[in-house]
Amino acid sequence: MNREYSNELRLDTASLVFPVTSVLFLVYVLFSLVISVSAGLSGLGHLLVVLLLSPLVTRYALRQSKKPNASTGRWVFIAVHLLLLTLLFGHNLSNSIGAVIPYFFTLLIIAASMTIAPIAGLYVWGISVPLVILAVWLNGLSILSFGNLLAPMILGLLTAVAMYLSAMDWQLAVESVSVLHRRAQARRDELFAIKEELSAANDRLISLNQELDRARRAALHERDIRTRFMNNVSHELRTPLNAIVNFAHILKQGGVGEVNQIQTDYLARIEKSGWHLLEVLNDLLDMAQIEAGEFRLYLKVSDLRDVCEEAVSSVQGLMLENDAVTFQTEYPDEWPLVCVDQIRLKQGLINLLGNAVKYTETGSITLRVFADETNVYLQVADTGVGIAPEYHELIFQEFKQVDETAARKRIGTGLGLPITRHLVERHGGTITLESEPGKGSTFTICLPRYVPVEPREESMALVAAEAESRNGALSPDC
Ligand code: ADP
Repeated sequence: MNREYSNELRLDTASLVFPVTSVLFLVYVLFSLVISVSAGLSGLGHLLVVLLLSPLVTRYALRQSKKPNASTGRWVFIAVHLLLLTLLFGHNLSNSIGAVIPYFFTLLIIAASMTIAPIAGLYVWGISVPLVILAVWLNGLSILSFGNLLAPMILGLLTAVAMYLSAMDWQLAVESVSVLHRRAQARRDELFAIKEELSAANDRLISLNQELDRARRAALHERDIRTRFMNNVSHELRTPLNAIVNFAHILKQGGVGEVNQIQTDYLARIEKSGWHLLEVLNDLLDMAQIEAGEFRLYLKVSDLRDVCEEAVSSVQGLMLENDAVTFQTEYPDEWPLVCVDQIRLKQGLINLLGNAVKYTETGSITLRVFADETNVYLQVADTGVGIAPEYHELIFQEFKQVDETAARKRIGTGLGLPITRHLVERHGGTITLESEPGKGSTFTICLPRYVPVEPREESMALVAAEAESRNGALSPDC
C-alpha cells in the first residue's frame, strides 16, 4: 500500500481543516470576550492565551506538515488545541457559554481523523474524556455536572467511531487510487521513454534519408555524366566507322579499281570488324538511352512474321559460315497479332539468334513461334555450349559473360541480353532461359497477344497511351 499519496491528501485536508478549526476557536473566544466584558467579568487571561496560541500553532503545524516527519506538526496542533479547550472549559464551566465547549472536542476528533489517521479520532476522544473530567473535578462540581457532559461525550465517541470507519474507507479508496495513479505514472514514463526512442529513431531516419538523398543525387549526376559521355563517344565514333565500313565495301567490290584476292580478303575483314564495332556502339548507345530513361518504343499491331524473317536473314550470313550447324524455323499456321515496336523486337531476336550462332559449334538452331490464348512465344533453341544455372540470371546483367576468356574469343560485350530483356519487358513481356552446360540453351520471349478494344475503350486506351508517350514510354499506335 502506498501511504505517501494518503499523506499528501491529509496535508491538503489539514491546510483547510486547521485554519477552519482555529477560526472557530477564535470566534468562540471573541464571543466569550464580548460577553465577559459586557458582564463585567474579570480574569480574561485564558482567552488571550487562546487568541495568541491558536493561530501560532496552526501556522507551525501547517509549516511542519511540509517536512518529512509530517504528522508531528498535526499532532502538536491537536494536542495544543485539546489543552486550550480544557483551559477554556475549566474557566467557562460555570457560565452559559461554557456549555458548547464539549462539542469543540468533537471538532478536534473530526480534525484528527481527517488529518492524522483514522484511529486518531478515537485517541483524541480517549484523551478528551479524562481532560473534561479533570476540569470538572478541579472546579469542584458535583456528579450532576457529569450528567450534562454525557451527551457531548457520547456524541464525540460516535463521531470518532463514524470518522474511523469512513476514514478507513476513504483511506482504502485513496490508496487504490494511488496505486492506479502510480501505474498510470509508470505507464506514462514508459510511453515517454518510447516517445524519446521513437524521436531519436526518427532523427536517425531523417539523417539517413538525407544521406541517401545525397548519395542518390550523386549517383544520378554520375549516371548523367556517363550517359552523356557514352552518347558523345558513340556519335563521334559512328561517323568515321561508317566511312570505314562503306569505303572498305566499295573498295572490296572493285568500285575504284581492280583488287586482288588478298586485298579483297583484308577489305572483307575490315568491313566485318567495322560492322561489329558499329553493333557494339549501337549497344552502348541503347544502354545509355535505357539508363537515361530515354529508350522509346514505337508500337504497331503486327503478326511478327516480318520481324522473324528479317531477323533470320540478318544472321543468315553468320549461319552459313558453319556447315556443322543446321537452322530451322517452326512457325504457326496462323500468326497471332501482337502490339510491338518491330525494329526493337527484331533487334532482340537478332541478339538471341546471333548468340545461338556464336555459342553453337555443331547441331542445330531453331526459331520457334507459337501462341496460347493470352500470349505469343518466340523461342530460340540451340544445341550449343549451354549455360550453368548459376549464370542464368547473371548474363542478363550489363557486361556479364559466362566465361569471359571464352566469350572474348567469340567477340561480345555482354550488353545484348540486358538490352533484349529491357526491350521485351517494356513490351509488357518476359524473357526466360532453360539451359544446361553441354546441352544447349533455349531463350523464350513471351509477349501478350494483342486484344482489339471496343471503340470507347479504344479512345480511353489512346488517351492513356498518349499520356504515357508524353512521359517517354510508348507510342500510341496500338
Ligand atoms: P555477348 O555480347 O557477350 O554475347 P550477351 O549479353 O548477348 O553478350 O550474352 C551474355 C553472355 O551470355 C555471353 O557472353 C555468353 O556467355 C552467354 N550466352 C548468351 N547466349 C548464349 C547461348 N545461346 N549459349 C551459350 N551462352 C550464351
